[in-house]
Amino acid sequence: MSIIVKDLTHIYMEGTPFQSTALKNVSFEIKQGEFVGLIGHTGSGKSTLIQHLNGLLKPTKGQIIVNGLDLSAKSTDLKKIRQKVGLVFQYPEHQLFEENVYREVAFGPRNMGLDEKEVDRRVKKALAMVKLNQKELYDRSPFSLSGGQMRRLAIAGVLAMEPEILILDEPTAGLDPRARDEILQEIKDLHDKLNITVILVSHSMEDIARLVDKLIVMHRGQVALQGTAREVFSQPEILKKIGLDVPQVTELMHKLKERGLKVRTDVLTVEESKQEILKALRGNDHD
Ligand code: ATP
Ligand code: MG
Repeated sequence: MSIIVKDLTHIYMEGTPFQSTALKNVSFEIKQGEFVGLIGHTGSGKSTLIQHLNGLLKPTKGQIIVNGLDLSAKSTDLKKIRQKVGLVFQYPEHQLFEENVYREVAFGPRNMGLDEKEVDRRVKKALAMVKLNQKELYDRSPFSLSGGQMRRLAIAGVLAMEPEILILDEPTAGLDPRARDEILQEIKDLHDKLNITVILVSHSMEDIARLVDKLIVMHRGQVALQGTAREVFSQPEILKKIGLDVPQVTELMHKLKERGLKVRTDVLTVEESKQEILKALRGNDHD
């Protein structure tokens, strides 16, 4: 499913002394199957933006079009859209509430009115995707799991609805480095396997730049930059101004170039940077 956001403005508490503009003239397009990173500092409008994509928030101005349907149109069935656009909130484990792991994941599909056989199929599939599909876990209380497991359980709850667009708001916030890497890899794997559209919200370039097809960089409620990671990193001045770090390998390449080594600076992984440095040292920088 595709998403088009046109000239979106969102003002919280408009007309009161507390009025604040969280989004201002935001426009972008996301194609079916793309893996998009939405990045920006705290308060830049990321969470406000994604809550528009399944109709939880209404635009003050502008348009959201999901799979050709205008979310503001009266004829659009928001309930259906919400089943197709799965949203994993920031700290989703705070919203776990069922008595055991199985029921937690079954809640969404049951709510959709599916029969128990289909519910069971979806629960097992979703738990397998987040690597929690051990039978002995089914009866465990969600609250007895580790932080990383709780986070993955919450993600499984959304996956069990079989969304066509999956949006994850800071899915690695507060996790240790190992759990963080595992979750990012799982998200990447399920994007590749399911061929769904994924929007991954983060404030860390280090985490997401190497994973995504495209980056949308938010700054104070506006889109500051958008494009492939390479395109975005070719504008280091804008990134510096916003105060977003480029990944360490990319930073290293910029420094080497400043010192006269003829290397490309749009490098995203350690392996790529190694190849690039070797090439420059051998002096064959013509291709
Ligand atoms: P973070 O990285 O901290 O999650 P964010 O990029 O998700 O930040 P938002 O939560 O969308 O940013 O907030 C954007 C702006 O809107 C901020 O200035 C915030 O204070 C304001 N804001 C967010 N939610 C509300 C609300 N419910 N009422 C009023 N203002 C809000
Ligand atoms: Mg947020």
